[in-house]
Amino acid sequence: MDLYEYQAKELFAKHGVPTQSGEVVTDAEAAGAAADRIGCPVVVKAQVKTGGRGKAGGVKLADSPADAEQKAGAILGLDIKGHIVNKVLITGAADIAEEYYVSFLLDRANRNFLAMASVEGGMDIEEVAATKPEALAKIAIEPIAGVDPAKAAEIVAAAKFPADVADQVANVLVKLWDVFVKEDATLVEVNPLVKTPEGEVLALDGKVTLDDNADFRHPDHEELVDIAATDPLEVKAKEKGLNYVKLSGEVGIIGNGAGLVMSTLDVVAYAGEQFGGVKPANFLDIGGGASAQVMADGLEIILGDPEVKSVFVNVFGGITACDAVANGIVQAMEMLAERGDVVDKPIVCRLDGNNAAEGRRILDEAEHDVIELVDTMDEAAARVAELAAR
Ligand code: GDP
Ligand code: MN
Repeated sequence: MDLYEYQAKELFAKHGVPTQSGEVVTDAEAAGAAADRIGCPVVVKAQVKTGGRGKAGGVKLADSPADAEQKAGAILGLDIKGHIVNKVLITGAADIAEEYYVSFLLDRANRNFLAMASVEGGMDIEEVAATKPEALAKIAIEPIAGVDPAKAAEIVAAAKFPADVADQVANVLVKLWDVFVKEDATLVEVNPLVKTPEGEVLALDGKVTLDDNADFRHPDHEELVDIAATDPLEVKAKEKGLNYVKLSGEVGIIGNGAGLVMSTLDVVAYAGEQFGGVKPANFLDIGGGASAQVMADGLEIILGDPEVKSVFVNVFGGITACDAVANGIVQAMEMLAERGDVVDKPIVCRLDGNNAAEGRRILDEAEHDVIELVDTMDEAAARVAELAAR
């Protein structure tokens, strides 16, 4: 889960990273009142889960409450890279002498953690990385050893931070590592980390991604979830304990097991090229236990996505044999019908593996209008893409 800047900064404050607190508001008038309480000048900052807000006009300084109200009015409702601004953060404006960049992240390619730091922070770190890679220090972090003051000093030296801020930045790094580990984050990024004219180091922006797989260790993270900004189908899937991910195509995909589901996405996207670029609309992994209930819940969610034109149920029977899955599909269709859900989108099923013949026989015998059985994964992908293109 990605956090909003204000949530990231709350975690920073909790772990002692110097940052400014502020107030989050959803209308312009409240922005003016908040600016009055905080004391001007303030910064009005769009709270959306994407970067580049500054460049998109989503970060503005205001020198009076009336100005803050006016700027908040301009920022609220903005579309920043497809994210509509529904709330703004009002914080005291800091004076900036220098802008730096620091982050900790999961380095998937090297199966390790990585620290990145640069004294050329600000809005364009991607450009720094592309055009002046030597200005972005990258230091591998031993997962067990972590970031102690010595490691932090190594990062500070590698990025050539000025001597007057070296100790403060090292201290910030140790605390950000605390955020990374103790909150189970996969990304903690500060851009810009600034030096004020008084020589104080402050995190002015914050980007944190939490590892959802560690949610069970963090009951307090639940309140960070923004239900209003989450796809209602994702919320529903989570309630039912299903792994559902929304994509942007036309074919709904249900499979058992992450590996099979991932390769199903690939074959559907590939087959879809022959039909004008049909792509997966979403996917849902029903895991090992494809009971009728799980299948009904899965189909309900997949079919609930208005962009879905056809559905591909791709199952490889293992511990749960294909006959059980086929019975699950048949019963799921009955359950949906009983609930009054009209299933009129074509469903292409491919069953293979343990008890495949029996599974196919069950589906054949059910003679359901919208269900089509196809023998192989490639043929099924082509058929489901063709049906979506109609
Ligand atoms: P981003 O563009 O989404 O990364 O948003 P940031 O929070 O990084 O803000 C963009 C830019 O606005 C920063 O790089 C700063 O230059 C500027 N900015 C943000 N907060 C302040 C502040 O308190 N004072 C001043 N003077 N500038 C700020
Ligand atoms: Mn930033």
